[in-house]
Order: sequence, then structure tokens, then C-alpha cells
Amino acid sequence: MRRYVIAGNWKMNMTPSAARSFITELAPKVAGKDKCDIVLCVPFVDIAVAAEAAKGTNIKIGAENVHFEAKGAYTGEISAEMLVESGAEYVIVGHSERRQYFAETDETVNLRTKAALAAGLKVILCLGEVKSERLSGITDEVVAMQTKLDLAGISEEQLKNIIIAYEPVWAIGTGLTATPEQADETCGVIRKTIAKIYSEKAAEEMIIQYGGSMNDGNAAELLAKANVDGGLIGGASLVTDKFTAIVDAANA
Ligand code: PEP
Repeated sequence: MRRYVIAGNWKMNMTPSAARSFITELAPKVAGKDKCDIVLCVPFVDIAVAAEAAKGTNIKIGAENVHFEAKGAYTGEISAEMLVESGAEYVIVGHSERRQYFAETDETVNLRTKAALAAGLKVILCLGEVKSERLSGITDEVVAMQTKLDLAGISEEQLKNIIIAYEPVWAIGTGLTATPEQADETCGVIRKTIAKIYSEKAAEEMIIQYGGSMNDGNAAELLAKANVDGGLIGGASLVTDKFTAIVDAANA
């Protein structure tokens, strides 16, 4: 059966010293809550410190992006190998803020995913519709297309190291949340798309998170839905008590 994965996305928040303090405070609060995997995706400069602070705990560390080339003249970019050596086990790819503000496309998301997998990272692959697409009634087509394009050329075996985060763009950082029914339905569309591209077995095993203003107040009802296997959490992952409450909801 699928395990819940509760992952925080710190975005551009927390210095290395703040990261250390946060994890030291969080670790005892989530200790033993093993019905879910717990991941914190942190800014590049925090990874080594965060991995050190999380050693011996049930918290895993991830990055927020990765470049698709292995090395070379790509000023300011970070390779998958660098992430692994710094202590990252996961990486977010295709977050809507990268797509919106940094010109990420499904093609570069696909390349980044392949580079991360090749280095042994687990990928949290984000996709989701913008508000105008939901209002136009084309959400299902949009997420199905993103799923196909982002996973192009990736094998069913490799898929085991990918988590999909369904993140309606209109719900990210806005305080608006998809209803549990909307989240369940669209995660279900993604699951059906996986079944079409790969197999029923792959679809059944695929971990699909919901992300978009998930918090301590709404996590339980979102996580109760059959197609929602966890959460990717921005704002509420910056407060240990709020993040712990979401982990608790996944352990209930
Ligand atoms: C995110 O960053 O992926 C996210 C879902 O943010 P928030 O929880 O703040 O909406």
C-alpha cells in the first residue's frame, strides 16, 4: 500500500543557523511518527547543515531544484551530484514558482527529473493548473498533458523514485485550498494518466501529494481522500507545530 509522504518546501526562507534550530526543535516532535515519510526541502546553502541536524532522526532532506547538466559553465546552477554529496535525498522539480518566475518548461522539468534520478535522488515532481485553466474547465487535460510531458522517456522502474505533487497554482501561497473533492479528483486524473502511460500497477503504487495552502487545519480532510498520498507544504512547513500537526494527521 502507498505510504504518505509529508514534505516541506521552505522556498527562500531560513538561513543555515535557522535551519539547524528548526530541525533540532522539530525532530523530537515527529519522532516515532512513522506512518509517513517526512522530508524537508530546503535552500541549497542549508542542505549540509540540515542533513547533519537530521542525522539519526526520521527527517529526510531535499533540495528545491537541480540543474540538468552534470557540470560546466552554468553559473549559479547546482548539479544533482552536488546535492547528493551535500546530503540531499530528495529534490523538488517543476515547482510552479520555477515555472512562473524562472521560465521552466515541461521540457526542462523532464531533463531535471532525469538528471536527478540518474544521481540517485528521489524526485518530487510538481504540476498543476493555473486559475484560468480551472475556470475554463480544462484542468484534467492540462494535468494529463503535464504528466505525459514531464515523464517522457522515464521508465516504469524509474517511476518508483518519483512522487508527483499535484499543486493547483491558484492555491499556492494564496490561502486558497482546493476542496478535498477537487484534490482527490485531480490526483485521480493524474493516477489514471499514469495507468495509461505505464500500467495499473504503476498507477496503484504512485505516490501523489496535494500541495496548495495545506495546513494544520485542513490536512486531515485532504489526506483522508483516496487519491491523496501526502502533502507538499510551503508556508506551514516553516512553523514546527504546524508541520507537526500535518505529520500527525498523516499518522492518525
Ligand atoms: C508549495 O510551496 O509547494 C506550497 C504548496 O506552498 P503553500 O503551502 O504555502 O501554498
